[in-house]
Amino acid sequence: MNAIEMNIYEIIEKGMEGNGLTDDEICTLYAVDPFSREAAALRWAGMELSLRAADGKAEVHAQIGLNGSPCPCNCQFCSFAICNGVRSGKLEMTKEDVVEYAKIYEEQGANLILMLTTATYNFDKLLEMTQAVREAISLEMPLLINTGDTPYEKWVQLKEAGANGAYHVPRIDEGIVTSIPIEERFATIDAMKRAGMTLSTCVEPVGPEHTPEKLTEFTRIVIGLGGVSAGIGRRVTVPGTMLEPYGEINEMIASMQVAIYRLATGLDLRLNCSARTPLTASAGANLNWAEVGTNPRDLKSKTEEGGAGYSIAKARMILIEGGWEIAEGPSKGWMI
Ligand code: SF4
Repeated sequence: MNAIEMNIYEIIEKGMEGNGLTDDEICTLYAVDPFSREAAALRWAGMELSLRAADGKAEVHAQIGLNGSPCPCNCQFCSFAICNGVRSGKLEMTKEDVVEYAKIYEEQGANLILMLTTATYNFDKLLEMTQAVREAISLEMPLLINTGDTPYEKWVQLKEAGANGAYHVPRIDEGIVTSIPIEERFATIDAMKRAGMTLSTCVEPVGPEHTPEKLTEFTRIVIGLGGVSAGIGRRVTVPGTMLEPYGEINEMIASMQVAIYRLATGLDLRLNCSARTPLTASAGANLNWAEVGTNPRDLKSKTEEGGAGYSIAKARMILIEGGWEIAEGPSKGWMI
């Protein structure tokens, strides 16, 4: 064993204590060869720490994509971005369908429900959908919103309408591969938190071009946001999008990164994203997503019909194959 390998094992041991890691240590881990024995040790350690943090329980959060129309925010990884030109026309789910999907999700055992919109979705309509879904699902079921950058007053209205939190992220290379200044993302997260909303967040979307230094920078930023769920997730390539030429990170890298996020953040975080495969689940990711409706990661009008979206059953099966038990009932920690 050489000195560098020793150092990596020492960092893993420190991470296993559950108190997090320094930036230098995190950066060293992101540079590990994903096919090495150190990477295998990392995945094992990520799982051990996640099992402790979550008492062996994993969750499935269920997303309903409400709409799709060409979006001027031009995120180069997104199928709705105008700059990519891979979609046209307008997709809008009816209120009746949104409510029906939410009810079905709760019956199927979703632990949390999230409504996703593009950045230009009409706010009054979002309020109406929030109210309608809140009336249709149990009071204990967390209801989250993933929408564009939104000011404090509107988060207050969304909270009054029955939302409990939001998924919001300063994306890697925000402002460079998107037209949104990263400060706007931070301002939105600050505004929603002041309005009493809880946060679901992530280091994403990770591609092969992202260096250990860049991943470390965003890991530190995302840890600092204090999400109820957080983690790291790879970019899914949509054919024809501007970032397609970069390709995707492979399964070995994605699973190692999930484990690194867990060691970097420590025991404070219960839900570690993102368990898209049994290998990522067995490396410590205990949060998987089911998706219906529109999806920026594919070109379908209904992602559940041959697109990127998983069903609840598939999302659960992946977690079980990865070594997790599935938590029953509404996810905890989102209602404040
Ligand atoms: S990710 Fe969201 S904000 Fe960016 S282009 Fe797509 S819909 Fe618009």
